[in-house]
Amino acid sequence: MPEKMLQFIDLDKQTPNKRNIDQRKEDFKEIYDEFLNQKAKEQSSRCSQCGIPFCQIHCPLSNNIPDWLKLAAEGRLEEANELAHSTNNMPEVCGRICPQDRLCEGNCVIEQSGHGTVTIGSIEKYITEHAWEKNWIKPIKVLKELNQSIAIIGAGPAGLACAEELRKLGYQITVYDRYDRSGGLLIYGIPNFKLEKFVVQRRIEILKAGGIKFKNNFEIGKNISLDELRKKHDSILIATGVYKPREIEISGNRLKNIFPAMDFLVASNRKGLGDKVKDFDSGLLNAQNKNVVVIGGGDTAMDCVRTAVRQDAKSVKCLYRRDKENMPGSAREVMNAEEEGVEFVWLSNPKKFIGDSKISAVIVEKIKLTNADSSGRKKPEPIPNSEYEIKADMIIKALGFDPEDLPKLFDSKDLLVSKLGTIKINQTTMETNLEGIFAAGDIVRGASLVVWAIKDGRDAAISINKYLQKKQNSKIKAA
Ligand SMILES: Cc1cc2nc3c(=O)[nH]c(=O)nc-3n(C[C@H](O)[C@H](O)[C@H](O)COP(=O)(O)OP(=O)(O)OC[C@H]3O[C@@H](n4cnc5c(N)ncnc54)[C@H](O)[C@@H]3O)c2cc1C
Ligand code: SF4
Repeated sequence: MPEKMLQFIDLDKQTPNKRNIDQRKEDFKEIYDEFLNQKAKEQSSRCSQCGIPFCQIHCPLSNNIPDWLKLAAEGRLEEANELAHSTNNMPEVCGRICPQDRLCEGNCVIEQSGHGTVTIGSIEKYITEHAWEKNWIKPIKVLKELNQSIAIIGAGPAGLACAEELRKLGYQITVYDRYDRSGGLLIYGIPNFKLEKFVVQRRIEILKAGGIKFKNNFEIGKNISLDELRKKHDSILIATGVYKPREIEISGNRLKNIFPAMDFLVASNRKGLGDKVKDFDSGLLNAQNKNVVVIGGGDTAMDCVRTAVRQDAKSVKCLYRRDKENMPGSAREVMNAEEEGVEFVWLSNPKKFIGDSKISAVIVEKIKLTNADSSGRKKPEPIPNSEYEIKADMIIKALGFDPEDLPKLFDSKDLLVSKLGTIKINQTTMETNLEGIFAAGDIVRGASLVVWAIKDGRDAAISINKYLQKKQNSKIKAA
């Protein structure tokens, strides 16, 4: 197989040209499967097994990458899978959507020496997919059931990782989520072309089969207060993520067809899951035949532009106030979007939305970047009299997310949060200021990554276990 084919080890990340996406997937489907089988071994054996595993150091989960690459190279996939699962609750998810260029692969010694990284993420995905196919991934078998129970608020990656680790120890776990489906942003945020929904649903099913209970359409703060929930369980993990969209306060903001990113992505994901979505079917949240302008430069903005392309938008522009080098989104995602026909309008800031009742255009001012400030980032400064107009039938605002007001939502004024609204925790134990209540994931870190949420969930499980053991021991002593 020619070296060029290595580029196709993960087609979802190598989508080349707007019109050709589906065709190319079809063309390569056959050789893709065959190719993966043959090439996973070859790629794995490219690992130089260097003395200092920089890839492992830069993986938030400290995955034992060199060892599972070696096992994969030797064709010992069952052992490789066990090793991959020993530090990660969802290797097939991380293999697909970690920004590897900033983590493991970006620090691969072979990459650093200019010979192209070992494709760690794709191999991680391959090992785990092979394990699912071979039925090596089994529901948790509890050796001894314990009578203490834990409530997990939020069925995103942080909550799910914590739930799994605690269930393995025999605790009774209930995961509560206000969405109708479990998975958090893995289901309703991240688009299907990056992470297929069956991958997440398969995980949830195996957790259910292992005895974890899921209670969906159940919102803490609405269906029950935090205090009441506390009375029902021995410990609680808050893993509610961050969902308040950052706003842009400019004139015309209330015109029709201007949407927050999550409205657009949730509608698209629901549609992909087979739901009836009124606002999509009516055309409101469907980008088809529209001139779409996405505002923002992070990964959420990249997901919006790439979703709009797949919905057959007439044109898709991404407006960002800094330049390409200073963009927060993953370089690989920007490259994918560019290849799919997205036009990036760098160094540009929306000044005003215009239209009668619906948006028809956005007035944009040009920006220059000044010297870096104390944070190391260059500051954007408007260029006077540089305004111009961009035609738009649909605006998607992807400016990031802040935490909701949890003390208010949970009816728990005592719960301590930071100035930004993230939950304050003891950094060693991950316990909040309320005894027995722990927190993990985006609601502690602010908007972050799936791999960090999994790491936090696992760490919280260790602390919750210690807390509950201590509680149990004092009960025994007191009796
Ligand atoms: C569009 C988008 C794309 C992304 N792409 C990537 C990517 O490619 N790679 C990557 O690594 N990361 C990505 N991320 C970030 C990643 O999804 C998050 O960092 C991660 O999901 C955080 O996990 P979490 O468990 O903390 O929270 P979440 O995944 O947000 O889950 C929180 C859950 O809590 C539930 N909940 C909230 N409040 C309540 C309540 N009061 N009662 C009951 N349930 C509640 C929510 O319904 C939700 O299901 C992306 C984020 C977005 C928005
Ligand atoms: S979890 Fe993410 S960072 Fe770690 S090895 Fe896998 S892809 Fe790389």
